[in-house]
Amino acid sequence: MTLAPADWYSVRRAVNGKPSTYRCPFCNQHLLALTEHVLVAPEGDTTRRRHAHTTCTLDARRAGSLPSLEEWKATQPRPPSLLSRVLHRGGVAVDD
Ligand SMILES: [Zn+2]
Repeated sequence: MTLAPADWYSVRRAVNGKPSTYRCPFCNQHLLALTEHVLVAPEGDTTRRRHAHTTCTLDARRAGSLPSLEEWKATQPRPPSLLSRVLHRGGVAVDD
């Protein structure tokens, strides 16, 4: 596929724009801008967005090759919370 590699992708419905023809990055087939389709943007970067068939995009989502920001965030290690950092440092002084 010709979509830019990225950790996550935003997908939104394309509002019908110019009567141009695009090439879907998933199936490599032509796509008429005036038909129902979606815009796929790597990491939300709209300058690298691609017009794609709705069905191709749904297939890619189902196959796991098009994670959303929320899905990507869920795979990232969480930074330790402030409380656990303070406790591990042993810096908590409690007066009786
Ligand atoms: Zn397609």
